[in-house]
Amino acid sequence: MSIKNAYLAKVMDDVVKRNPGEPEFHQAVREVLESLEVVVERNPEYIEKGVIDSIVEPERIIKFRVPWVDDNGKVQINRGFRIQFNSAIGPYKGGLRFHPSVYEGIIKFLGFEQIFKNSLTGLPIGGGKGGSDFDPKGKSDMEIMRFCQSFMTELSKHIGADTDVPAGDIGVGGREIGYLFGQYKRLRNEFTGVLTGKGLTYGGSLARTEATGYGLCYFTEEMLNDHNNSFKGKTVVISGSGNVAIYAAEKATQLGAKVVALSDSNGYIYDKDGVAFAAIKQIKEVERKRIKEYLKYNPNAEYHEGCSGIWTVKCDIALPCATQNEINEESAKILVKNGVIAVAEGANMPSTPEAIECFQKNGVLFGPAKAANAGGVATSALEMCQNSMRYSWTFEEVDSKLHEIMVNIYHNASAAAKEYGLDGNLVAGANIAGFLKVANAMLSHGVV
Ligand code: NDP
Repeated sequence: MSIKNAYLAKVMDDVVKRNPGEPEFHQAVREVLESLEVVVERNPEYIEKGVIDSIVEPERIIKFRVPWVDDNGKVQINRGFRIQFNSAIGPYKGGLRFHPSVYEGIIKFLGFEQIFKNSLTGLPIGGGKGGSDFDPKGKSDMEIMRFCQSFMTELSKHIGADTDVPAGDIGVGGREIGYLFGQYKRLRNEFTGVLTGKGLTYGGSLARTEATGYGLCYFTEEMLNDHNNSFKGKTVVISGSGNVAIYAAEKATQLGAKVVALSDSNGYIYDKDGVAFAAIKQIKEVERKRIKEYLKYNPNAEYHEGCSGIWTVKCDIALPCATQNEINEESAKILVKNGVIAVAEGANMPSTPEAIECFQKNGVLFGPAKAANAGGVATSALEMCQNSMRYSWTFEEVDSKLHEIMVNIYHNASAAAKEYGLDGNLVAGANIAGFLKVANAMLSHGVV
């Protein structure tokens, strides 16, 4: 697909020129602008009043040095980022990613997507994202702590409970959030909900750990139900074995499906009897080891080197939960050939545009990340809410709110697609529904 509207095509050209060498960001913007053609045709005010030009430009980009000392006493230097993309409907909100592949373009793409995702949750949160090219793999707990403290020493100048509230993402889980929170509290001498994904003893919300994976399954179940189908009795393949993948596996199993494969960046496991996710939790959350270790728990399972091979495993439902662009056209064709009926994205932008086109052309139900994985940030917003009230809801209360939010996201995206003549296209529906709320808020604020 290409952008036909001349104005939007020019905006796209400018984005490419002003953000050279950032293909992930270009990809994310192109998808949204393609979806918005029908919107600006019906309401040119979004172009005339500069909303489109503004929404593709971050409000603020913070880039900083992160010096820390490793266990050998050697000074290490990493680069830190926080991109505060859009605060039209609430304080900036979005995770922190620690991974060697992180650079400005990755954070920009994630921050941009976050604007629309956060809007879709129906909660008052703006879009932001941050991270570092620091690689937590193989580091000691003390190295992780020193890095997090140094990272927060700078970040603390730019965030706050009513300004910008970061959370976790790849490489940032409960341990990292704890160190980051501890340092913020120490520097600012205040105990506020400045981060989400906190531990339960210091302001965290029950069900936040499970939220993205559970939410993905609630969304997918609703999408399936809307087409007279469900998880029950289905074979499921899930990529990744981190926070999102583990809890997606747990919920899909609870909903009656059999999860037969999971992966990490080295390879994937196949267990025809259904993966025992308690073993995966032990390997990944407690021991922090490679997924290959699963064979020790079940010697009858198979391990294959190379993570992209996971998409050759025959399944009814595929849930990519690892990283961006992990399903290309070739993998999508194999999934289709093997009879996949639904694909829902737990990771951010895990399918390339060609892969998405392949799914849509072949009638595969496709749940885009912005909608399908919004359960994590939605529950983070519920954590903010509990922090403001200085109160805690039970697991069941949070989980039932999460369920309701995911069901609403599905129906809002589906309804927006229908309203704009794109029935069944949830990519367009999610982009349009997410955009309209933010854009209308921007119009109300004037040129700011
Ligand atoms: P984790 O760090 O907990 O897990 C990431 C998983 O993906 C690991 O199994 C990791 O393998 C694998 N992975 C990471 N990078 C690559 C790569 N380049 N190639 C292959 N596999 C890779 O992260 P999360 O589970 O939190 O995040 C996963 C995805 O979900 C990301 O796209 C994230 O942006 C998205 N997401 C996360 C949310 C959250 O609440 N955590 C909310 C919404 C979206 P290995 O251990 O080998 O690196």
